[in-house]
Amino acid sequence: MQHLIDRFISYVIIDTESDSNSNTTPSTKKQLVLANLLVKELKAIGMAEVTKDKNGYIMATLPSNIEHVVPTIGFVSHYDTSPDFTGANVKPQVIANYDGGDILLNAEHNIILSPNYFKDLLQYKGQTLITTDGTTLLGADDKAGLTEIVSAMEYLIKNPDIKHGKIRVGFTPDEEIGRGADLFDVEKFGADWGYTMDGSQIGELEYENFNAAGAKITFKGKSVHPGYAKGKMINSMLIANDFINKLPKKEIPQETKNYEGFFHVNHLSGSIEETILELIIRDHNAKKFKKRKDLIHDITKKINKKFAKQFGEDIVITEIKDQYYNMKEKVEPVLFIVDLAEKAMIDLGIKPIIKPIRGGTDGSRLSYMGLPCPNIFAGGHNFHGKYEYVPVESMQKAIDVIIKIAELTATTDFSANENTKDKKSKKKK
Ligand SMILES: [Zn+2]
Repeated sequence: MQHLIDRFISYVIIDTESDSNSNTTPSTKKQLVLANLLVKELKAIGMAEVTKDKNGYIMATLPSNIEHVVPTIGFVSHYDTSPDFTGANVKPQVIANYDGGDILLNAEHNIILSPNYFKDLLQYKGQTLITTDGTTLLGADDKAGLTEIVSAMEYLIKNPDIKHGKIRVGFTPDEEIGRGADLFDVEKFGADWGYTMDGSQIGELEYENFNAAGAKITFKGKSVHPGYAKGKMINSMLIANDFINKLPKKEIPQETKNYEGFFHVNHLSGSIEETILELIIRDHNAKKFKKRKDLIHDITKKINKKFAKQFGEDIVITEIKDQYYNMKEKVEPVLFIVDLAEKAMIDLGIKPIIKPIRGGTDGSRLSYMGLPCPNIFAGGHNFHGKYEYVPVESMQKAIDVIIKIAELTATTDFSANENTKDKKSKKKK
């Protein structure tokens, strides 16, 4: 277990925060420090075809050790961490034999990780937790995934009696800013399907995610001396406020769950002259997703119409960009790849938790690029903040799942599953 902890810690102490304002890939140079370490390590454990391209995408191969041909599978994770919270100077704390009580993360600032608030903690009583020191995120998202994939490959190399087909490994930069899959060379990867090791608690297995878009809305105003402003001043901040008030009040992240979509205001800054509002739009259902985008355009039009005379041109400028789509559409025709992961968990005594992701992963984009790619738990909790933690036992279980999937892929007869769609339609008849 110490080996696993050491590996994880060696990754999280490297700051790999990505930056959505950057146009380079990786978005931040510092990500390459970890990328280079990973390349070295993959070579050191005996992986073949270890490559890192000019954009920082890492790929490697574990060659098949069986005679017959079986599908090539891939495991993917990302090495950047979220810009939502600082990832500099991560000082992980290892709490052995967790007693189920409060964990003092930081005495100076009195930051406590408490099961009274984070109830999930209680299921890990007696286990070894890795937490932050309360001043940074941990980066288990997704350095737990990296740790698990590298460790599973190392185990398979050291235990050649476990039979497996060809396995590909892919590590990407910039997932947290929605670009992880952008420059992923699916053809070069050459896997029949893959799994991202990027989920949260033990047992999670996901193949449905949000459809996602980001909107940037610019409000223009007219600044006039407040004493002489009647009928003249246009305060762009107030118009932005008006815009936000026209969005459905209950359809926000903190009021929704499961398949419910939302609008999320994630940035607002302005002056009288100009205000910029950024929001994200999320919905599992493609039709509802479109409706949400239409609503943004409708509100824009209405406000523009209202101010057409006074302002003379459009006062609100709206840009909406699609970010990713629900992978369900691409995974459902090959649902046996989800069944395989589910069987691996059940064989290992892990209770699969199959639920829609309220977000996206590299896998959602990859699925649309030709690599169906469900998401498997990496073990961490409370991502993107100071309360992030990961039980070491969950990471070990994720390693076991990777090994089991490799084994099952070598022993399963996929000819019966060749086309799940056909099977389904036959069943109906
Ligand atoms: Zn992640």
